[in-house]
Amino acid sequence: MRTILIDLTKYRECEQGGCDMKVPEGLISQPPETNGLKSLRELAVFTYACRRCEDAPCVEVCPEEALDKDSNGMIIRSTHLCVACKSCVTICPFGTMMSDFYEYKRDESLYYNLHDDQQLDEFIKRSPEGTVQLTDENTKDQDNIFELMPGILVKDHSWEKLKNLT
Ligand code: SF4
Ligand code: SF4
Repeated sequence: MRTILIDLTKYRECEQGGCDMKVPEGLISQPPETNGLKSLRELAVFTYACRRCEDAPCVEVCPEEALDKDSNGMIIRSTHLCVACKSCVTICPFGTMMSDFYEYKRDESLYYNLHDDQQLDEFIKRSPEGTVQLTDENTKDQDNIFELMPGILVKDHSWEKLKNLT
């Protein structure tokens, strides 16, 4: 199995630097609880960057009740309900979500099935420089690299890890 490393810090640099390209999204599953498509980037952000606020202002502000918490306190979004108003992006005190995170009726050609080798190659090729790459790495906590699932590593400054170091 091939392994990819997605670097959320590079995605954030791209977003903050006014990256003018439409960012491709890798799809990993369509579990019923997500009520539709689930992108790799979204799952990685809610897994590692989100601080799982007890009162979750993002959930409260959503006008469509598209956000909820799962049994582990992780935020999940119903893609069928979300209207991409981005109120949740604005209200999050930690800047967890990226401003290009949600778009209404996104161009389907931007989605890639990561279980298909050909699509995976294309996804890597079209992604912003440094954001996605094939890797031989294993997880290395000291480098803030985490295994999201077999074959997919994520690099980010995990708030949970930082909290444990202080
Ligand atoms: S407000 Fe931000 S950090 Fe808090 S639960 Fe929502 S997305 Fe996560
Ligand atoms: S962008 Fe979607 S999930 Fe976020 S507040 Fe608006 S409708 Fe809700």
